[in-house]
Amino acid sequence: MTKASLEKIKDIFKSKGITFKLFCITLTLLIFMLSISLVVQNLFFETFYYKQKEKNLIKSVEKFKTNYYRNIRSNIDFFTYAYNFEEENNSKIALLNKNGVKKYLRSTNTNGEDSNDIINLAIANWLNYQTSYFEVIKDHKTVSFDFINPISNSKNLVVVSPIVINSDVEDILFVVSTLQPLDEAVYVTKRFYMYIFIGIVIITTLLSLIYAKMISKPLIKLNKTADKMASLDFSTECEVSNYDEIGNLAMSLNFLSKKLNITLTELKAANKKLTADIEKERKLEKMRKDFIAGVSHELKTPISLIQGYAEGIKDGIVDAEDLEYYLDVILDESDKMNKLVIDMLDLSALESGNFQLKPTIFQLHGLIETIYKKYVLNYNTKEINYIFDQKLCELSTEGDPLRLEEVLTNLLDNAIKYSPPEGKINIYLKSINNKFNISIENEGLPIDEEDLKLIWEKFYRVDKSRNKKSGGTGLGLSIVKNILDLHGSNYEIKNTDIGVMVTFTLDIIESDYL
Ligand code: ADP
Repeated sequence: MTKASLEKIKDIFKSKGITFKLFCITLTLLIFMLSISLVVQNLFFETFYYKQKEKNLIKSVEKFKTNYYRNIRSNIDFFTYAYNFEEENNSKIALLNKNGVKKYLRSTNTNGEDSNDIINLAIANWLNYQTSYFEVIKDHKTVSFDFINPISNSKNLVVVSPIVINSDVEDILFVVSTLQPLDEAVYVTKRFYMYIFIGIVIITTLLSLIYAKMISKPLIKLNKTADKMASLDFSTECEVSNYDEIGNLAMSLNFLSKKLNITLTELKAANKKLTADIEKERKLEKMRKDFIAGVSHELKTPISLIQGYAEGIKDGIVDAEDLEYYLDVILDESDKMNKLVIDMLDLSALESGNFQLKPTIFQLHGLIETIYKKYVLNYNTKEINYIFDQKLCELSTEGDPLRLEEVLTNLLDNAIKYSPPEGKINIYLKSINNKFNISIENEGLPIDEEDLKLIWEKFYRVDKSRNKKSGGTGLGLSIVKNILDLHGSNYEIKNTDIGVMVTFTLDIIESDYL
């Protein structure tokens, strides 16, 4: 495998989820350990079994020899011991003289023929094998070796041990034990291990999958919640089902989420307030600027008029007849300036945002009637009507009567100003939707729709030249608007069949409250 492809596999592995990684690592580890045990078993089991068998057989032969020295005096004794030995060790035993000639060999049952054949073949083979023979005869050593039956091809273990009496080899014990059970055992064990291996691989796969899921599931949930937190969504809480490290982490995350949520909410509120404050400040600043611009513009005309006429008088260019006219103009202009300053102060107080009404509960009809009478007296050329519903006379409203008088006066002043010399003015007091509806209508020219939208703005005039003559300041309707806003009133200006009508509403308070 090239380095590049190895790196690629590494990258793919890194990009996989935690469940997959845990599963892979656990499975690899377990399969590796199982494979090692399988290999070890395969390689060493046979050798280990063989060595064990050889050791046991030599031990039995030594035991047989001890008995032989002590107890075996006859053929019958030998056969008895030989029988026991053969039964215990699943082998065949023969006694040879030191030349390798058979002295005793227990005759056996029907299978005996075969067994004897094996031992005879083995003896013949051993006698040909000089080195081993001399090791036994001369060195008095017990030797062991494998012998494969040339007929059946079965494997046998042979142990040859000298019987030494007075430092001389008297006889030789020749034992052949079949190794067939060993081959069978190795074969069975291998198969057994193979099945066990497959079974363990399946169980391990399942277990590592469950175990990987068990660890990774809460982590995946935590990860999802953390992801939401990262996008400032604190609506989900981590589930705390255990009190281990993951449980602690979930609790810490929940705590962090709550804290962050609170801090963020506070921060948002503070930011909102700050934005509102800045916006308010910006509006105030704009209002101040507009106001100053408007005021200087409005004051310019009367000041220059007063200046011009006063200079004329000072320079002596005015004859006695015109002097009175000059002085009237100066007084008139100063009057206008005075009115403008009063209106400006009034409006700036109303617009400051800190203006406080002095509300009381009073009968609205009474207030309107008083003002109406004043206007009828002062403006006898105009036809001024007051139309009201009798049942409203007793009803009261809540508001600042002084400021509402200012509203009515401003509206009536406009109605007088903008109606023809003998024009008609109607004042209506009605009740609509449980509210007082006060309208002041005057005969006159209609106002353009475009102008109607802007008419409540400061210093806005519909017909500049006409207004100059009528002596308006352009602040009247702005003052009205501010006072009505403070009263929570609805108001509008519209054209009617005969001219222009301004309407506003006030709450009706039942007379019982008085
Ligand atoms: P002004 O002091 O000029 O009257 P207002 O703010 O009271 O200022 O009015 C703004 C403008 O709206 C006036 O200049 C006038 O052109 C128009 N206006 C106000 N009321 C009436 C009305 N009743 N009839 C016709 N035009 C009106």
